[in-house]
Amino acid sequence: MGQIPVARPTLGEEEAAAARRAILSGWVVQGPEVAAFEKEFAAHLGASHAVACSSGTAALHLALMALDLAPGDEVITVSHSFIATANAVRYVGATPVFVDVELNTGNLNAELIGPAITPRTKAILAVHQLGMPCDLGRILPLAREHGLMVVEDAACALGSEINLGAGWEPIGRPRGDLATFSFHPRKVITTGDGGMITCRDPELMARLSRLRSHAMSLSAAERHQAAKVVFEQYLEVGYNYRLSDIQGAVGREQLKRLPALIAARRRLAARYQEGLAGHPYIALPQEPPYGRSNWQSFWIILSADCPQEQTAVMQALLGRGIHTRRGVMCSHREPAYQDLPLRQPLPLSEYLQDRSIIIPLYPEMTEADQDRVIAALWDTLK
Ligand SMILES: *Cc1c(COP(=O)(O)O)cnc(C)c1O
Repeated sequence: MGQIPVARPTLGEEEAAAARRAILSGWVVQGPEVAAFEKEFAAHLGASHAVACSSGTAALHLALMALDLAPGDEVITVSHSFIATANAVRYVGATPVFVDVELNTGNLNAELIGPAITPRTKAILAVHQLGMPCDLGRILPLAREHGLMVVEDAACALGSEINLGAGWEPIGRPRGDLATFSFHPRKVITTGDGGMITCRDPELMARLSRLRSHAMSLSAAERHQAAKVVFEQYLEVGYNYRLSDIQGAVGREQLKRLPALIAARRRLAARYQEGLAGHPYIALPQEPPYGRSNWQSFWIILSADCPQEQTAVMQALLGRGIHTRRGVMCSHREPAYQDLPLRQPLPLSEYLQDRSIIIPLYPEMTEADQDRVIAALWDTLK
């Protein structure tokens, strides 16, 4: 029996031709392809500005740098996320303050934000986990009331949508101050590694695009095109977080595919919801009334009375050639976070890490393969 991977990027001749075009142009570092990718990405979301960078983690780091946080400042976020979310807060010397999540969406529970706010709180880092929109309808007013900045970690959420009362709009336009995306192959579109930041403020955008290149006052293109001899300045301590033009060219092709990729993911997610409905030991993720997921991942939650542990279920599926991943990790349980005392207990974050399993879903998955996964879950869990 063939193996069914948990995820698989959709890449084809178009991406290969785009990479070739960039390579043969003679300009391979960040240049015209990245500039075009940024423009097309912003236009796709209806965002005023987009800044590309080398990864979703770099995007988070730059976004938090732009908030000018100082050591001791606090950022409210979730532990229940890929560790990059919490790490980015620590890169800028601030302290992540973790709050728990909701069971059905896996996202930050907005009710727990109030009790976590202190005089040192400066921002909320709101994750749209696995593509599921988080509760911005409650997070944004709270942030406004307390004078907090909001960064959306939309690493997984390109193509997801939210309705805050004025109709559906894409995640990451952004609704907060800044939103960040990842183009790692596990996400909905990929450039190998890669990331993007969206924002509304042109000055912020100019600063972000400098910061990704050591805060150089002139871009490589500006120096290249200058008719006079010009010297750059380094305005603050920045980084080399640039995306290459080879990646930018690939990203532009991936963006063209996006609507079809999301449609395929949604169709398969609906088939999982149908095929697993009524299972005695499995609960399924639920879209909130205000959100539509891009289904970057699909997960099942083993019920409290399920006779089998997560590892046993994953092992049984692997025995049938079906690859899975455990639920989203919790940063506070990792050795790197042992020095950070918890302010609130995180029972549902831990429950989801221990009891949820990410099952295969990718746009080119066949219905026959998906039926095998559904049958295996009915078969092995009874
Ligand atoms: C993948 C991911 C990141 C990091 O993105 P990279 O491109 O891998 O650096 C950050 N936050 C979340 C929620 C993610 O899923």
